Amino acid sequence: MKLYSLKNISKKVKFLEAVKLGLCEKQGLFFPKKLPYFKKKEIKKILKMNFFEKSYKILNSFIGKEIPKKILKKIIKKSFGITFPKIKKIEKNISCLELFHGPTLAFKDFGARFMSQIIYFLKKKNKNKVTILTATSGDTGAAVANAFYKMKNINVVILYPKGKISKIQEKMFCTLGKNIKTISVNGSFDECQKLVKKAFNDKKLKKNIGLNSGNSINISRLLAQICYYFEAFSLLEKKNRKNLIISVPCGNFGNITAGLIAKSIGLPIKNFIASTNSNDTVPRFLKYNKWKPKKTISTISNAMDISVPNNWDRIIELFNQNKWNIKDPKYLKFGKVSEKQTKKSIKKLYKLKYISEPHAAVAYNVLKKEIKNGEYGLFLGTAHPLKFKSTIEKIIPVKIKLSKNVKKQKNIKSFSFSIDPKFSLLKKFLI
Ligand SMILES: *Cc1c(COP(=O)(O)O)cnc(C)c1O
Repeated sequence: MKLYSLKNISKKVKFLEAVKLGLCEKQGLFFPKKLPYFKKKEIKKILKMNFFEKSYKILNSFIGKEIPKKILKKIIKKSFGITFPKIKKIEKNISCLELFHGPTLAFKDFGARFMSQIIYFLKKKNKNKVTILTATSGDTGAAVANAFYKMKNINVVILYPKGKISKIQEKMFCTLGKNIKTISVNGSFDECQKLVKKAFNDKKLKKNIGLNSGNSINISRLLAQICYYFEAFSLLEKKNRKNLIISVPCGNFGNITAGLIAKSIGLPIKNFIASTNSNDTVPRFLKYNKWKPKKTISTISNAMDISVPNNWDRIIELFNQNKWNIKDPKYLKFGKVSEKQTKKSIKKLYKLKYISEPHAAVAYNVLKKEIKNGEYGLFLGTAHPLKFKSTIEKIIPVKIKLSKNVKKQKNIKSFSFSIDPKFSLLKKFLI
């Protein structure tokens, strides 16, 4: 597969090169020049396969001969072997697609684990230094740290907005040590993301420390996420597959980009809904046709507190390639959910005997507004409720039990460096 940079269409690279580079010059994101396509008959066959076979078929259609069959199969087993998607029925025509059963209890395990395996594969061929630099709004940190933990000669540096992620989220990556370094930044996630992008613009630095990114700007994370949309589809009863709409809680818009790619390559999903919290740059853009990011607002769905979503350019490109109109609700609907409404949805789901954390509740809220007769709705459960224990316990009368692993981590002292959001400070740390 050839990919091009969205900032320079003539700059084309192969998949492994795109993974290695992460981001192209002028902060251009990589995107496939031409997406694969599966005909109806092939889709039918794929849907009958198990999760590993399915994922192989899909990923191979993007990656091709760049990774030998046997190795790609092994990579897939290692990446997805402990993180299976599950479907929980909530109402007659609504289910939750739970993607949080992996080691760090968020959907980001899928992408991060696949990416780490690909980087490790590349590393074996090339002995240069590798530094994974990642900004996290909450869950990426843990997923990336866990995926790369103890990998030889690979250093991981994670930036996060100080005081803006949950205690448990922080414990999950700031207590590991070894090859995992963490930095709390006095600022918002968008400022962390900006620092990462600046580091990528510094050619000399990039080369010296073998810089790569663990964020969803890396194409490998995105491709991995396509697989669970196919798996979700085959987990549904046949009658519920016909008019399927999927509501995705969006922050950087990586998850929904993967879903829209799944649709583009032939998975017959009727419609996607981009659901956001008060950080609603995209809903406002779709409504008023003006791209006007505002200052990031802190909410209880903190992993979505992003006002400049990285992957939006990829969605625009995808729509252009497909000749779909971004304003046509036939493909993409949207909705913004206030804090009050999010809490209301958590209460409503509790009445339906389902304990939900704030991100899934945002997606559920918009799904309920948009779903029509004859449609079946999925909303994505992106994190395990226990990661948001204290938030949830203030909203509904439950006591959420911590798992053994989380309890253990909670008792370890976390350690992070702390900096102001200045590139010179980050650079000093990296060197
Ligand atoms: C990262 C994250 C999101 C947002 O996903 P994007 O791919 O960045 O849009 C939503 N929910 C949770 C729990 C997350 O960790």
